[in-house]
Amino acid sequence: MKKRGLIAFFLVTFFALLTQIYFADEGMWPISEIHKLNLNAKGLEISPDEIFSPSDLSLIYAVVQVGATGSFVSPDGLIITNHHVAYRPVQAASTKEHDYVKHGFLAKDRSEEIPARGMTARITESFRDVSGEVLSVLKEGMDRVERTKAIEKRKKEIVARTEKTNPGKRAEVSEMFSGKSYVLFLYTHLKDIRLVYVPPRSIGEFGGDVDNWMWPRHTGDFSFLRAYVAPDGSPADHSLKNVPFRPKRFFQVNANGVNEGDFVFMLGYPGRTYRHQTSHFWAYDEEVRMPYVVDWYGWQIALMEKMGEGDREIALKHLSRIKGLSNTMKNYQGKLKGMKRLGLVKTKKEQEKALQEYILADKDRTERYGDLIKKMGDIVEDMRERAEYELILNYLGRSALLTSLGCTAYEASIERAKPDLERESAYMDRNFSRTKQRLFLSLRNYYEPTDKAILKEMLQRATHLPEELQIPAVTAIIKDKGPKETIETFIEDAYSRTKLNDEAVLKNVFTKSTEELMNMKDPFIQLAADLYPTNLLKKEADKARKGLYDQLYAQLLDVKQEFLKTDFIPDANRTLRLTFGRIRGYRPMDAVYYKPVTTLDGVLEKSTGEEPFDTPEKIFALYKAKDFGRFAHPDSKSLPVCILYDMDTTGGNSGSPVLDACGQLVGVNFDRAWEATINDYAWSASYSRSIGVDIRYVLWVTQKYGGVDYLLKEMGIPE
Ligand code: ASP
Repeated sequence: MKKRGLIAFFLVTFFALLTQIYFADEGMWPISEIHKLNLNAKGLEISPDEIFSPSDLSLIYAVVQVGATGSFVSPDGLIITNHHVAYRPVQAASTKEHDYVKHGFLAKDRSEEIPARGMTARITESFRDVSGEVLSVLKEGMDRVERTKAIEKRKKEIVARTEKTNPGKRAEVSEMFSGKSYVLFLYTHLKDIRLVYVPPRSIGEFGGDVDNWMWPRHTGDFSFLRAYVAPDGSPADHSLKNVPFRPKRFFQVNANGVNEGDFVFMLGYPGRTYRHQTSHFWAYDEEVRMPYVVDWYGWQIALMEKMGEGDREIALKHLSRIKGLSNTMKNYQGKLKGMKRLGLVKTKKEQEKALQEYILADKDRTERYGDLIKKMGDIVEDMRERAEYELILNYLGRSALLTSLGCTAYEASIERAKPDLERESAYMDRNFSRTKQRLFLSLRNYYEPTDKAILKEMLQRATHLPEELQIPAVTAIIKDKGPKETIETFIEDAYSRTKLNDEAVLKNVFTKSTEELMNMKDPFIQLAADLYPTNLLKKEADKARKGLYDQLYAQLLDVKQEFLKTDFIPDANRTLRLTFGRIRGYRPMDAVYYKPVTTLDGVLEKSTGEEPFDTPEKIFALYKAKDFGRFAHPDSKSLPVCILYDMDTTGGNSGSPVLDACGQLVGVNFDRAWEATINDYAWSASYSRSIGVDIRYVLWVTQKYGGVDYLLKEMGIPE
């Protein structure tokens, strides 16, 4: 009996361990779903209510959307996020004399903090399902465009009504499953964000593009910011009278970090995934869209790098754009490789085949869904045929800054004349100042030779479109002579005559009517006016496509749900989500195992003295002196730098807090491993790994390298 009891005990323990080890699961879970996850059985040691219950004390109030994600780590509005998330404002504040990208930025006290221009912070306050209210606008007999427009309008009405009754807050209706479910989110929206401490590029971006999307990693990808509000606590634009924001909740930092195998979870704002899309859509992405983007971004990066050679001032203007484009380009390259390697489209097709067999096995189902997958495929086929035309039209309007300024000004003059709720979202009163601000900030990085070269290349690409898809505005430019000669003449003339690159003129432009704009006789306004009808047609076509696709998509989810007998997690859409897992290595290929924690030893091993592997001298000195303070690992005695885990993340999760079983901050997420770039299409427990900077490295760099002791005190880190 005793023996049997013992065996039973071992068996139970063994299976408990097994489930602990192998429980990792796909899922960027909406906050409303977390109570279904049984997180305590999986390793969480606090109550899920602590993460979220409609009480004021939930941990979700410590998470903040700053473009990507960040977290509050002190009662005085101190935010930790990634170096790359704060990169744009750091670059915007940098000059040749004060190069904060290169040397980092440090405010010795609060009076030295400087505005993080263009950055805002949103905190999720509450959410509510409004699917019924949104979908009730749909009427029998509406055509596809009408459907899309009706839903858009209803969403705007809900937002307007909600913001009216919640002054100072921002609302947003997010599509969880298009054509099917919608959730209204209410946000606190902070507008005065300042830079506090940013390490130098040689730490924050160590490894640069070479190491980006790779493991093992040794990047100190973190920055500290602070949010400010008016003295009465309300969100306000930057002012020296403002005071630090007091968040309802902030994360306690656990300076002891985590170990291999530990349970971790993450809260954040993942951007976009396509897991519920069809095989046709995936094939379109793999064969058409991503290769085009890789090519176009690569072309621009090469150009900008060349332009900046030998002149730091010019290089600085291009830095953040190059960084953004390279990030996407390399990510797409990883995805393309992964999709091919795993045959993702083929697998999806097989799943669809099984679904189709299930549909055809029943008369009623056949009637309702028989040609559903085919119809969705036809829409994507149509997209494919027009893809190059649509991509060129899109990039023509936005890749060169001056076309982007011209098109936005022209469109604004038309949209701003309509009632607020009927405008395109960028031109609504609630968004217009931000739309303008983005352009003004881009103007600071304007460099005419680069802009000219980009526009020239795009116009040239446009001339190669098939006859029936030629863009009239481009045809008009090359009407009489050969494309090359006339495009060059057009560009020389346009850039010499335009005034849109003058900030004062630009300010004025946004107050003008269409007629007044045309009277300016600016060549980029004229180009925008010529492009406008084509863009308008494209927009209407997009709406028609969306109207039909969403309707079919909703049906697809219904029948898939019926077939698989399971609930689905909505694809990522920039709303607050939770994911969980463990600190865990993986096998990227035969005979190779990647451990999940890197150390300072690896930083030094990689250092060559040349960008992007140039480590500051002071780090070498601290390493030599083994001056790791209290942050060395108690067993290995080395300093942890980055951690790897099997949580389900994507872009937008940059800067997300990595939290331990007690909900304390142990890292800051910043990337994914190469094989996990395809997370956006499919997730796998075997290779989907994400990367964070270990909190011990953050604290060590801040204290020992930056000398910013006061931040550690502010975060309550014991001496
Ligand atoms: N480093 C990534 C990004 O910037 C984060 C991710 O996608 O996992 O988008």
